Amino acid sequence: MRIPTSPFGAGGDVTVLNPATAEPVAVVPLADLAETDAAIERAHRAFPAWRAVAPADRARLLRNFAAVVDSHLEELAWLEVANAGHTIGNARWEAGNVRDVLTYYSASPERHFGRQIPVAGGLDVTFHEPLGVVGVIVPWNFPMPIAGWGFAPALAAGNTVVLKPAELTPLTAMRLGELALEAGLPEGVFTVIPGKGSIVGERFVTHPHVRKVCFTGSTSVGKGIMRGCADQVKRVTLELGGKSANIVFADADLEKAAASAPGGAFDNAGQDCCARSRILVEHTVYERFLELLQPAVEGFRVADPSQPDAEMGPLISARQRDSVAAYLDGADVAMTGQTVTRSGFWLAPRVVLPRGVEDPVWRHELFGPVVAVLPFTDEADAIAKANDTEYGLSGSIFTRDVGRALRVARGVESGNLSVNSHSSVRYWTPFGGFKQSGLGRELGPDAPNSFSEVKNVFISTDS
Ligand code: NAD
Repeated sequence: MRIPTSPFGAGGDVTVLNPATAEPVAVVPLADLAETDAAIERAHRAFPAWRAVAPADRARLLRNFAAVVDSHLEELAWLEVANAGHTIGNARWEAGNVRDVLTYYSASPERHFGRQIPVAGGLDVTFHEPLGVVGVIVPWNFPMPIAGWGFAPALAAGNTVVLKPAELTPLTAMRLGELALEAGLPEGVFTVIPGKGSIVGERFVTHPHVRKVCFTGSTSVGKGIMRGCADQVKRVTLELGGKSANIVFADADLEKAAASAPGGAFDNAGQDCCARSRILVEHTVYERFLELLQPAVEGFRVADPSQPDAEMGPLISARQRDSVAAYLDGADVAMTGQTVTRSGFWLAPRVVLPRGVEDPVWRHELFGPVVAVLPFTDEADAIAKANDTEYGLSGSIFTRDVGRALRVARGVESGNLSVNSHSSVRYWTPFGGFKQSGLGRELGPDAPNSFSEVKNVFISTDS
């Protein structure tokens, strides 16, 4: 396996482990503050030339980048299996997602239209001006897609990008940085800086040349970033935690709802901000739903992530596994799924019956393969229980009643809902959170707008 190189190193290094085996995969040199400043300075200097690249040429460079990612799809996917313990099936989807997001936003430079607004005595037009240097901060749970959701629309809108991957999972982002150069993006336009959150990430917040921070991670760190950005009124997008509800009504296709529930909660070992980690079941079918859920949980295939049929691999680290396992102490565990008994950060999926809505397994984002199930009485109770959380990222509704599906979808305070499915994020539709799950939206047709400022220009026709 080819390990990407890092031009940094003054900030020490980190040994990256394979979560499936706990064996070292690579030692990654980290950037210190001075190296971070120098990289931001290079991105700042690269900005005027990048914004001046003709729209069709910027589009072509992004299409080249997508093509180079495509020709390295297998390499990127296997790198993610080794670094993050993702199943090979998921990792291939993730590398393909970077290619597709780049392709989608490569259409944007030629279509990022302003407006012509009727005025007396002249012409009024608006322009979308790029911001400058954009800092993208990425968590460890989906290192490739989340990086792409930030850098692709930011580059398309004419910004240069500095990107900090998570300490635990820097390898695929570093490789994407190399591939960008191979695709012909000029030096300094897209720079991946491996380093600590408290050094590199913090510097994105405090450095005046970074004009926007696009952060994905925990709600607590996100709040600190928002506070820090306030000092310079720096633009910020936050994609934070979640505790999403999967609401199952009695009139639903219960077999389908039960069969799909483990995937909605345990994909990526539950380390998914959109995980449907709370299941709400209408009380009349609660027992029947649990009966149907049992074989689905026990059949959810937990295996070495390199196996093509693996549905779930290990957790990211010993720390993450232990933090999730601590919630199981004394919990009423109704079902336990498969696990792998060998070294590595493995934890069997669990279905827990909480003691009520104050139970920590019902309220906290565990970020692991644990799902809690509670009954509800009627539609109003389902919506109230789904909304009884500080989060609002995602959710699912299972019912055969179209009117109810729409009423509940409108009633749940959440940015992304799916009916009779646990739809994953689609790059051509907007994604983001209500309440403490985030601020702003990523992806979809409007993402380049959030990486630009609207400028209004009036041209007088007076002679
Ligand atoms: P985290 O907040 O600990 O770290 C995220 C990133 O921020 C990392 O790169 C980290 O190095 C950096 N960071 C840490 N401290 C920082 C600081 N003071 N200043 C600047 N940067 C700093 O989160 P995590 O543990 O890597 O990821 C898990 C969290 O991410 C979960 O809460 C999950 O829900 C959330 N998440 C949200 C989404 C979404 O789209 N809403 C997607 C994936 C993950």
